[in-house]
Amino acid sequence: MFILDEVMMEKVAAIVASYSPSGLIFYLEGDLGAGKTTFVRGFLRHLGCQGAVKSPTFTIVEPYRLELNGKQQEVFHFDLYRLCDPEELEYMGIQDYLDGEAINLIEWPEKGQGLLAPADVIITISYQGKSRELEIQPISEKGISLYAQLKPALEQI
Ligand code: ADP
Ligand code: MG
Repeated sequence: MFILDEVMMEKVAAIVASYSPSGLIFYLEGDLGAGKTTFVRGFLRHLGCQGAVKSPTFTIVEPYRLELNGKQQEVFHFDLYRLCDPEELEYMGIQDYLDGEAINLIEWPEKGQGLLAPADVIITISYQGKSRELEIQPISEKGISLYAQLKPALEQI
């Protein structure tokens, strides 16, 4: 559990990115305005994304082709807030995104219940005055091994 201001939020996200293996699925949970997209921005910037990072509200998913530890890495940023029916994910071919190679960062995963692959890591952000409380919960074996590497790095910041 970490209490973070906005700058630190992006920094922590960058550290998480630096240890993330390909194929990892992150669920990002927390209310509107909690800081999910801010976290994604920090993550993508670490991988060299220089443009603006906004929630892909009207397109559901924003694809990025970036570089992670010297290798090309595809990253998909989902925001399912406006999804009316999880079936829409089926029509868009969600399984092709969750192909095991791309890193997926998914805001509002509960809206896609039943059609999303399970999370490797769940990031939960909650309000704590001006700062935010960030919780990183590893789920799968891949998530647990990421967390083991992350923990010492995050304790130093
Ligand atoms: P979400 O994607 O969860 O709806 P956003 O990341 O889009 O949230 O928005 C978070 C808002 O809160 C931004 O306007 C950001 O500037 C502000 N903010 C203030 N403090 C923090 C913090 N500690 N971490 C992240 N965002 C913060
Ligand atoms: Mg958002």
